Amino acid sequence: MKSNDILISGASIAGPALAFWLRRYGFNPTIAERAPELRPGGYKVDIRGVAMDVVDRMGLRAEFERKHTSMRGGSFVNGEGTRIAELDGELFGFRSEGDLELMRGDLSKILYDATKDTTEYIFGDYITSMTEDADGVYVTFATSAPRRFDLVVGADGQHSGVRALTFGPEAPITNHLGCYVSIFTVPNRFDLDRWELTHSTPGKVVNVYSTKGSVDAKAFFLFSSPELDYDYRDIDQQKEILADAFADGEWEIGQLLSDMASTPDFYFDSVSQIRLDTWSRGRTVLVGDAAYGPSPASGQGTSMALVGAYALAGQLAATGGDHTRAFPAYAEEIADFVQLNQALGVNIAKQMTQGKWWQIWFQHQMIRILPKLPWKGLVMRGIMKRSRKPPTVSHYRTTNETSLRDGHAGWGPRQQPACSTS
Ligand SMILES: Cc1cc2nc3c(=O)[nH]c(=O)nc-3n(C[C@H](O)[C@H](O)[C@H](O)COP(=O)(O)OP(=O)(O)OC[C@H]3O[C@@H](n4cnc5c(N)ncnc54)[C@H](O)[C@@H]3O)c2cc1C
Repeated sequence: MKSNDILISGASIAGPALAFWLRRYGFNPTIAERAPELRPGGYKVDIRGVAMDVVDRMGLRAEFERKHTSMRGGSFVNGEGTRIAELDGELFGFRSEGDLELMRGDLSKILYDATKDTTEYIFGDYITSMTEDADGVYVTFATSAPRRFDLVVGADGQHSGVRALTFGPEAPITNHLGCYVSIFTVPNRFDLDRWELTHSTPGKVVNVYSTKGSVDAKAFFLFSSPELDYDYRDIDQQKEILADAFADGEWEIGQLLSDMASTPDFYFDSVSQIRLDTWSRGRTVLVGDAAYGPSPASGQGTSMALVGAYALAGQLAATGGDHTRAFPAYAEEIADFVQLNQALGVNIAKQMTQGKWWQIWFQHQMIRILPKLPWKGLVMRGIMKRSRKPPTVSHYRTTNETSLRDGHAGWGPRQQPACSTS
């Protein structure tokens, strides 16, 4: 095998998923995570379509199902807290059969548990420099001693350190979609049981929910804004930005913002996409949000991280660790899948906040009507079909099934999808 020792930066979703597959194929992955321990928190994330196929192949479906959020549905509330429209869980989440919804932290923990005994994890450290030569990469860390690796993978998210070291500062490759998002744990003051409450005002949305088995609730904030100049590592500054944006908030927003002071897991980021012409340079490659983050708006970032990790490891296995062939093949394999989901993210971001009161009113009327429509199933299936299972997913699945059956040797040239959408 040409490459064996592989350093992965980032232990959230893409990193541990990649380590899982690399181990299975006989490589020796090491993960360096900047946070002192596995990061908790985050929103509920959907695992859809081909990503569930990857989960099945990992043998982790039962673990995923155990952590399914089991949301029953949600209500839309006005400024006085009156519930003005409702949807059941499936309609609310736009889910189709076989898709699962988990808390991001639970998903990360499942992947960590599945890899921690076979993968070296270095927490509280990060790469400070990478020097490549013909035989590998000499890596220095903030605290650990320098080491050599055959390959380095950036699975370190939207603000990837590996990407910055390899491709330069992030500004030109980050496409801001016009909103900011924040999520954090709050006490379950509304006694929500697998239920969510959503309150919209022009340019702003606040959502509170509690999932199966959780004592607390999550508060989610979204607001339209041009790009802001802030330090993405400065949590206090981000809390201030959020408090300012919702300073005039009605309903229970004041209380939720007070709860923010003592929350254990504050998350704040811009709704942005990462767009690069190439995901690799020499012996370094990117996967997940670091490479092609579609933005939280797409609802597909986690699925893309799982699929990307699977494809990258598969291509390395298929080429005997020859990164010069594996990296371009990985990029080609998932390029259409990435493009479709990024386009989805752009479209959804435009609709996430409504700019005018009449638009919010209209949205509520639509929500009221939808459950009563005899053909609501058709409407929802139509939306899901277009957005969740693009043709390339079927194609991608076929290719991988072949490769798995053939002992990872079947990564042939691209074929046209067998069916248009399914
Ligand atoms: C705490 C947290 C909460 C999130 N909440 C949401 C949410 O509510 N909604 C949503 O849509 N998406 C959220 N995301 C993003 C979502 O998880 C990703 O879009 C998706 O799962 C893709 O995963 P990823 O592994 O590629 O990147 P990420 O999940 O972003 O993970 C990147 C990992 O790399 C680590 N890291 C960053 N820089 C370095 C560095 N220089 N060296 C080493 N490690 C580094 C981070 O600590 C993190 O663990 C969240 C991510 C995190 C980390």
